[in-house]
Amino acid sequence: MRVIVVGAGTGGATFAGRLAKEGQHEVVLVEAGPDFGPFDGHGWPFEMLDSRRIPTTYDWGLENQDPGSDRSYKLERAKIMGGCSAHNGCAAVRGIRSDFEKWSKAGGADFWNPDEFLEDFAAVDEALNVRTLPFEEFSPYQQDFYHAAIAAGLPHSNNINDIDEGIGVSICPMNKKGGIRWNAAFGFVDPVRGQDNFSIEANFEVTELLMDGRRVTGVRGFKMGEAHKLSGDMVVLASGAYGSPMLMLRSGIGDPATLKEAGIELRHDLPGVGRNLQDHPAVVLNYQAKGQLIGRTQAHEKLRLNYDEGTIVKVRSPFARDLFDMHIFSVGGRTPDLANWYWQVYVALLTPLSRGQVRPVRKDGSLHFAIEHSHVTDLERMDVQALTWGVEEARRITSFAPFATELEERTPGIGTKGQAIQDWIQIEHQHYYHPASTCSIGRDPSAGAVVDVYGRVHGLEGLMVADASIMPYVTIANTNIPTAALAHRLARNFDAILGMNRA
Ligand SMILES: Cc1cc2nc3c(=O)[nH]c(=O)nc-3n(C[C@H](O)[C@H](O)[C@H](O)COP(=O)(O)OP(=O)(O)OC[C@H]3O[C@@H](n4cnc5c(N)ncnc54)[C@H](O)[C@@H]3O)c2cc1C
Repeated sequence: MRVIVVGAGTGGATFAGRLAKEGQHEVVLVEAGPDFGPFDGHGWPFEMLDSRRIPTTYDWGLENQDPGSDRSYKLERAKIMGGCSAHNGCAAVRGIRSDFEKWSKAGGADFWNPDEFLEDFAAVDEALNVRTLPFEEFSPYQQDFYHAAIAAGLPHSNNINDIDEGIGVSICPMNKKGGIRWNAAFGFVDPVRGQDNFSIEANFEVTELLMDGRRVTGVRGFKMGEAHKLSGDMVVLASGAYGSPMLMLRSGIGDPATLKEAGIELRHDLPGVGRNLQDHPAVVLNYQAKGQLIGRTQAHEKLRLNYDEGTIVKVRSPFARDLFDMHIFSVGGRTPDLANWYWQVYVALLTPLSRGQVRPVRKDGSLHFAIEHSHVTDLERMDVQALTWGVEEARRITSFAPFATELEERTPGIGTKGQAIQDWIQIEHQHYYHPASTCSIGRDPSAGAVVDVYGRVHGLEGLMVADASIMPYVTIANTNIPTAALAHRLARNFDAILGMNRA
């Protein structure tokens, strides 16, 4: 069988590499961005390898614009082999038992059984070089935040990747090798480069799925500006939580009324495509260094790499429905131009109730896509209340030494309290870089399900999805490792899935 995987990001690189390794199928991995070859070829741009901070090159340039709001903000997404795993923060976190139980429940089969799924996480950890750095490798800022959280009474987390562990202060595992961001292409594609059954089509931006009735037969788009197409027996979408629904919608797969409004001819009625968009809404507190922090950081960077991230605190708000519902974490170091310093604490809600969407829009005669996260818009106002609690908890933690001796809050500023915090969250909230759920697993297409529990698109032959978009609920964790693990699980069971009857 010829399998075309569209998107070489975390999900696509993992799926394609894992499937090609078996040698049973011909696998073509398509990527809109460039491929710089294997890690050992030394062709990669330095900033994409340097795991100290997040690079800004090779980005799709997407923005969020909520309906009725004139505020827009950047949605970072990498356009390069490895996708977002090639520019992300490398926090390697799995999620918790209830995440995967919810996916199985939504799909009506125990395919995501947490204990079995752990095998896929283990394989991903190995391929992506996941390991916990010694604490002394952490920057002074990360160490100060860790010590303040312990002083605030939070327990040390023995293992953030124990899927049954609750609150705690974690020294976060990272997928780095000697300071290199070890992306999914290095982990899963490099081992199969050169195999006869595997090929890469880089710089090929797919714009449409080719269809013959209910069967998807290939893809078409532009490669280096020239029209290009590929045919295959199976197309696996892995273009990410924005890209995968965009491709389906462009191809006429989606909600009939939405497609009609955007002037797209309906090919397949599947109302959930692009809906149910989730991420972890976040707010950022900014600090000014006082005391010795900058001097200590300069001394540290003479001996070791200063990573911007590393300490994550898991906390449980009064609104939590699970083991914990929030990450509070420190991010700081040199600004990208290396000329200044920045010190931040993020508060991110991991179990949001608000839902957004990716929507086709016809503007000035051409087709565009609106990305509307609509964070903190739930009618119960639970999301904003939980985040308000999170900001207060972050302030409680940062009121302890050594953090308090070294830093003071600048924005929103300690004068912002009570209702003013809620107002600030409403205006200033951002994302945690974890979009998911726009092609959700579920049983009933009329109720918004796009794929079945095995990632097969409802009502169509020859089309699967294997990226963060299939999570019916975003993980109570960062999303890179869970996305790789889910793609690994789908690839590893590919032949069995093909043979299974549809519900
Ligand atoms: C700045 C940043 C920091 C992050 N930090 C962390 C972190 O520390 N830990 C963590 O767990 N998660 C982190 N994440 C999130 C994590 O990286 C993502 O959840 C994960 O990479 C998503 O994988 P994916 O396969 O769904 O999508 P992606 O990795 O985005 O892959 C999609 C791929 O498809 C390609 N593509 C899209 N459309 C097309 C098309 N039409 N034709 C061809 N190719 C196409 C894209 O170029 C891309 O390569 C971060 C994300 C960002 C952006």
